[in-house]
Amino acid sequence: MSDKADHDLGRDVMGEVSRRAALHGVIALGGLWFLPMAGCERPLVASVPQPDPNPHPSSSSPMEKEPAMPTEYTLPPLSYAYDALEPHIDAQTLRLHHDMHHAGYVKGANAALANLEQARKSGDYNLVDLYSKKLAFHLSGHLLHSLFWENMAPVGKGGEPSKPLDAAIRAAFGSLEAMKAQMSAVAVSVEGSGWAVLGYHPIDQQLSLLQCENHEKKAVWGTIPLLVVDVWEHAYYLKYQNKRADFVAAWWNLVHWNDVSARYAKAKTLTALR
Ligand code: FE
Repeated sequence: MSDKADHDLGRDVMGEVSRRAALHGVIALGGLWFLPMAGCERPLVASVPQPDPNPHPSSSSPMEKEPAMPTEYTLPPLSYAYDALEPHIDAQTLRLHHDMHHAGYVKGANAALANLEQARKSGDYNLVDLYSKKLAFHLSGHLLHSLFWENMAPVGKGGEPSKPLDAAIRAAFGSLEAMKAQMSAVAVSVEGSGWAVLGYHPIDQQLSLLQCENHEKKAVWGTIPLLVVDVWEHAYYLKYQNKRADFVAAWWNLVHWNDVSARYAKAKTLTALR
């Protein structure tokens, strides 16, 4: 399929992801906007098409070209060892979580993209609702896990909230402790599998806490996640069994506040939705 035709038909989720990523430096999915960070640039995609080295003379100027579309997602490596988050997250859990579960979402996202591409080529859209659902689930899982790893650091290495982030938290929740209490409650009370998300809304420049089921449900459009905690059982069951609250309480010892603060600083610069 030509680039032109691909673009014309690129009104599925992937088209939106690519377009917004290019225009705003963020990736939007499941109601959340994901913000790639400087210093957090392990690739979420394996490759993008390279520019034509011999463009047609009549082609539009580089400024007018559509951005290249990602072709495949890849599993980003961890920036720490499997046992680096001990004793709060054990090495076996972290290895299985990253190498098996996260990898599964990457594989699922790529499979959904491949199925959507095949649907475009064949013109058979009978299963487009299924493929769209699969893409939202698996790609949201990939993006949330990628953020989750960056949001954690070994004990004593995470720093503290920056002054601007601390002020925003106090404005939204009253205090850091109140935010932590609410986020913990949000996480513990997820029905089944899901996440608690501290996010930023560019439209009103506020922080808020969301509860996400699976990887993509109950999200709010435009929210940029800054800090997320995974409360699927695969995140904690080996060590904590059914004691999800104990896992969440321990997880706070691992929060990489320097990363969260940097994400907040970058999110504050966005004006697309204001
Ligand atoms: Fe997980």
